[in-house]
Amino acid sequence: MSNRTSRGILERLNSGVVQGAEGYVFELERRGYIKAGPYVPEVVLDFPEAVKELHREFLRAGSEVMVALTYYAHREKLKDVGRENDLELMNRQAVRLANEIAREGDALVAGNICNTWAYDPHNVNESSKIVRAMYEEQLGWAVEEGIDFVISETNDYLGESLIALEVIKQLKLPAMVTLASVQPTQTRDGYDYIEACKILADHGADIVGLNCDRGPESMLPLIEKIRTVVSCYVAAQPVPYRTNVRYPTFESLRTASGNQAFPLQLEPFLCNRFEMAAFARKAQAIGVNYIGICCGGAPHYVRAMAEAMGRTVPASKYSPAMELHPVLGAHVEEKHKEFLVDWKS
Ligand SMILES: [Zn+2]
Repeated sequence: MSNRTSRGILERLNSGVVQGAEGYVFELERRGYIKAGPYVPEVVLDFPEAVKELHREFLRAGSEVMVALTYYAHREKLKDVGRENDLELMNRQAVRLANEIAREGDALVAGNICNTWAYDPHNVNESSKIVRAMYEEQLGWAVEEGIDFVISETNDYLGESLIALEVIKQLKLPAMVTLASVQPTQTRDGYDYIEACKILADHGADIVGLNCDRGPESMLPLIEKIRTVVSCYVAAQPVPYRTNVRYPTFESLRTASGNQAFPLQLEPFLCNRFEMAAFARKAQAIGVNYIGICCGGAPHYVRAMAEAMGRTVPASKYSPAMELHPVLGAHVEEKHKEFLVDWKS
């Protein structure tokens, strides 16, 4: 394990909220470095500078954790894009890039594993062996390259997440295990999300909660209930999209013409930075310990969330100063009033 930083994840959580930031795959797709569809992080090998820059932007915006971009860098997915031979190199390189940028600040490095698409609830015994081997392989390389803890995320099945947890605990690393809440109330193997988090906590997860799929409005009510049933740390990393009771996940959002907005037409549903700042404050108020963002996340949200929690981060140097804007500022000069349009009149 790396001893680069003065305190590990558990010590940091013990003394206050830890802020995270994710959504690397989504953001690097928007920037033209990852193919939507397979969503394999080929960018790690093809354009490492692009990955480092995004790490750096999240670091400057207040993220205390650099999450190694190994999401979907597993055997099953690399097969889809014909890069199975790059598996080890991609995983090792992703952790190296995260470490390199973490050292620019005082950030931790998280190894990252996710749902494998290989877990089969109808064939638990056989599929569990495959899943376990994939996790052991990925995290084995990650540990050799140096990580502080592991984030196992977007878990659709409690069963699969428990395998991840076991593998992380065998490595004697702190475990953060979060579920995808794609369905209304239950994991795909039939466990209520709240109950599933309790089971994960009872099995020794250090941090449990939800990430991805839901925006602040539809994630917070679930998180609030999770907070009441577990005594371990709780994580919430929503997507910055305006989901609601009727459309609780970003997969359920529909465009004006009725098409599924996910994943390529989501822009009209983006939250603004103030909404994400409000989320951070609410999450903090209900006792969430690890507060972050997932797909759709970008540095301006991360900074707004950090500042909402009373922090000043490196990127705060360039935080808005609207009073200095020539038209919108507090002292609008007469000559600029013509630029202000009142659409109501
Ligand atoms: Zn996500």
